[in-house]
Amino acid sequence: MTDTYTLSRWSLADLYPSYDGEAMKTAFAEIENLVAEFETRRSALTAEISPDDFMAIVRQFEAATRLASRVNGFAALWFTEDTQNQAAQNFLARVEQFMAVMQNRTLFFSLWWKDLDEANANRLMDGAGDYRYWLEQMRAFKPHTLTEPEEKIVNIKDTTGVNAFKTLYDTITNRYVFKLTVDGEEKELTRGELSVYVRHHDPALRAAAYQELYRVYAQDSTILGMMYQNLVRDWRNEQIDLRHYAQPISARNLANDIPDEVIDTLLKVSQENAGVFQRFFQLKARWLGVERLRRYDIYAPVVKADKTYAFDKAAELVFDSFEQFDPRLAGLAQRVFAEKHLDSEVRKGKQGGAFCYSINPDLTPWVQVNYQGRPDDVATLAHELGHAIHSMLAEKHTVFTWHACLPLAETASTFGEMMLIDRLLEQETDEDVRRDLLFRQVDDAYATIMRQIYFALFERTAHQMTQDGASVDELAEAYLDNLRQHFGEAVELSDEFRWEWVSIFHIYHVPFYVYAYAFGQLLVFALYQQFKAEGEAFKPRYIKILSAGGSNAPARILDEAGIDIRKAEFWQGGFDVIRDLVAQLEALPVKVLQV
Ligand SMILES: [Zn+2]
Repeated sequence: MTDTYTLSRWSLADLYPSYDGEAMKTAFAEIENLVAEFETRRSALTAEISPDDFMAIVRQFEAATRLASRVNGFAALWFTEDTQNQAAQNFLARVEQFMAVMQNRTLFFSLWWKDLDEANANRLMDGAGDYRYWLEQMRAFKPHTLTEPEEKIVNIKDTTGVNAFKTLYDTITNRYVFKLTVDGEEKELTRGELSVYVRHHDPALRAAAYQELYRVYAQDSTILGMMYQNLVRDWRNEQIDLRHYAQPISARNLANDIPDEVIDTLLKVSQENAGVFQRFFQLKARWLGVERLRRYDIYAPVVKADKTYAFDKAAELVFDSFEQFDPRLAGLAQRVFAEKHLDSEVRKGKQGGAFCYSINPDLTPWVQVNYQGRPDDVATLAHELGHAIHSMLAEKHTVFTWHACLPLAETASTFGEMMLIDRLLEQETDEDVRRDLLFRQVDDAYATIMRQIYFALFERTAHQMTQDGASVDELAEAYLDNLRQHFGEAVELSDEFRWEWVSIFHIYHVPFYVYAYAFGQLLVFALYQQFKAEGEAFKPRYIKILSAGGSNAPARILDEAGIDIRKAEFWQGGFDVIRDLVAQLEALPVKVLQV
């Protein structure tokens, strides 16, 4: 590849030239018109409606959704470019307000659809083509849906109820300042800056970083714990008492369209495999020259490797690794660069982290990273471009059936990272860098799989205990128990970790979200194993999974690729890959890290 790639800012011109120009004004007016027109069709929604009339209404809804998602996309992306830009902040707030009103005005359609009798719904779905799964999935919520006025009340009360609790939680915890003495100098850090030190090669600094993190959270533990209990009670009141889900986790499972039994199996198989990471931690202790690993050391590097990659080199590595798998993938990734949809540079005020934002099937996704040259940054670039490729492969679907649902959403991104690591290992001759890459792979697998599984197990326990009247301190005690099961004898725990749970964003914001990370990563390990075993024969199956987007239930999409997520053996296959990785590392001669 001869192109040179430089760090740059993206362009949003493919969406709108500006937030206050004619094109944007027209877009707002047009959304209003589409919604008003849609409202006039309300009386046409009867059990006897003809398939043609029904599809015309569905397409009208899609047109409004597409345009709304374009405006939303512009507002969200513009804000991330510079989060301190007040014009962008205001515009985002204005768009959110406008869209909430539009959503309430179109709510009647989904309510009517869920309420329609089985025979007529089937009659209409038969002619719905690619919209079918979206329609089907909406109806799956029928047994858990309330009446229109009740749903509206829930929405309104949520804004000052659970949603306010979540905002309050964010406001309190985002204000925290952490103090850490580094090289004799006391620094004031954000949580993101502090967390860099948990991977530091100095053991004292790692311990200090964790102690400071939980010192600050523990100060507010009573308040944060109470907020959690209220969110959990609200979840129970709504999901169990009002909507009649079988268990607290079932509401999330239905949104992911995964049967409860599948998630029970995932959690059970994972618990049975806790030992593989315990073995890894014992191995890490030997590399660090200690008797037993402390909880502070689980992400410690085993070598001092500080290799960096220039951005053009990183881009080439990513393209090459995709190209080796299938030139189509490299071509799609290049589209993101060619259309200036990538924001790669580090700028003041720009949002931290990385993401891929897919707006509409006919638009190349936008990707944001903060590239600093570390191996992790190269992996992140591969990860986010993987997301973009996933969207682009599924572009033939409707706006409703194009996004992969949560359990499949991390497939292409994680697979992309694995392709990159293979490529790096292939060409890397420095033994230290190679070892660093291999150990990091297992570090990451731990963080995305086992850590998340035990969060989900804690949530299950905490929801039950809260129902039974447990106090915040009793929940903290249960959390320590959860950690003891998880780490066994392999890791020495210190008491401040009892407050780790009050620092986990997801268990507050999206109950039972976390298992999806483990689901996605284990799925990719299993797929990667099939790829290694079958080579070329595997590729069309993989492309097919991605191209399906969100047009069918995850279990059905995977069934067609010969994967049965109902079987314990499938999940075990993912853990077998980790077992092999750990065995490979155990076979290396130990070189104790000198700090
Ligand atoms: Zn991702």
